[in-house]
Amino acid sequence: MEHPENSEMYKGLTVNKGIEQPSIVNPYLKLRKKPRRREFSVGEYVEGIVKGDVTVLSQAVTLVESVKPEHQAIAQEVIEKSLPYSGKSMRIGISGVPGAGKSTSIDVFGLHVLEKGGKLAVLAIDPSSERSKGSILGDKTRMEKLSVHPKSFIRPSPSAGSLGGVARKTRETIILCEAAGFDKIFVETVGVGQSETAVHSMVDFFLLIQLAGTGDELQGIKRGIMEMADGIVINKADGSNIEKAKLAASHFRNALHLFPVPDSGWTSKVMTYSGFYGIGIKEIWDMIDEYFAFVKANGYFEYRRNEQAKYWMYESINEHLRDSFYNNETIATMLAAKEEEVLNGRLTSFVAAKKLLDAYFSTLK
Ligand code: GDP
Repeated sequence: MEHPENSEMYKGLTVNKGIEQPSIVNPYLKLRKKPRRREFSVGEYVEGIVKGDVTVLSQAVTLVESVKPEHQAIAQEVIEKSLPYSGKSMRIGISGVPGAGKSTSIDVFGLHVLEKGGKLAVLAIDPSSERSKGSILGDKTRMEKLSVHPKSFIRPSPSAGSLGGVARKTRETIILCEAAGFDKIFVETVGVGQSETAVHSMVDFFLLIQLAGTGDELQGIKRGIMEMADGIVINKADGSNIEKAKLAASHFRNALHLFPVPDSGWTSKVMTYSGFYGIGIKEIWDMIDEYFAFVKANGYFEYRRNEQAKYWMYESINEHLRDSFYNNETIATMLAAKEEEVLNGRLTSFVAAKKLLDAYFSTLK
């Protein structure tokens, strides 16, 4: 029987015969399997990237973001071979709390810088993306005009790992983008503290987007972030908000006077603008161009890039040591027990750490 459910045994249950399905509309359509994405060799990746092939670039960035050791091995080689072609861009960090107008602004900033030619990559660092499994920062759908611009490349934040790991991947992506001829790089982040430090460690200019608030707008801003900013711009200076934005700008200017002049010798500028209505955009970018000319003339540009390179060497060492330690099998089996002993007061934290480290080092011998 076609439908055993219709047997006498099962009362109250009848299953109707299905209707015959029509054949496919186009009999000539071959139902093919989706071809597997071809894997490139290191040489092919580098060649494609240097030629500016965005498909190859995207695939290489995916390798950079992958946690698989075999992907990482290729990625590291591709990065190393791309390095000689990198370094020649304006790297600009853009930060602001959610709702500050980052996506609206990046869209207009992007179009503005592309007017003069060149290519723009928009990357992101979003420390929350680890939990939410995927980031909205740097998402194409948020930047309507830029996302369809032929000279732009938009990539959301890498999502796996610690903030340090996410930041490293973005930094490595910068190198690949530069090798692919992107001469302007925006790195977007949310204004939550630590992620700003990460972005600051990989850009030449750090732009902080603020809003005019209720009069105590300075309260919420951590001192460290203001000190990091090379420019502070107050968004939504339009309509009835213009005066408030101007007032906020003067508060920021006064607050900045309290900080010592930074190493760059550049005093942060404070400006108002409207991303939505496109007011004051040119002035902001003239200021940023002025900054680049200033720090290139006084040597700070080189100095900051060198300091960043040094910082990333140590960050990279730290990350690898940490990974090696926590992925070590001996450590993995001991860790929970030692943690328990510390919590029970049977071991001090220092003794527990020493025992774990000794065990780790003895596995290396
Ligand atoms: P993000 O979360 O920082 O990326 O902010 P969005 O760019 O998504 O902007 C948040 C909201 O503010 C949106 O509703 C925008 O339309 C609005 N907005 C952005 N820029 C301006 C502006 O210059 N003026 C006004 N009035 N609204 C703006």
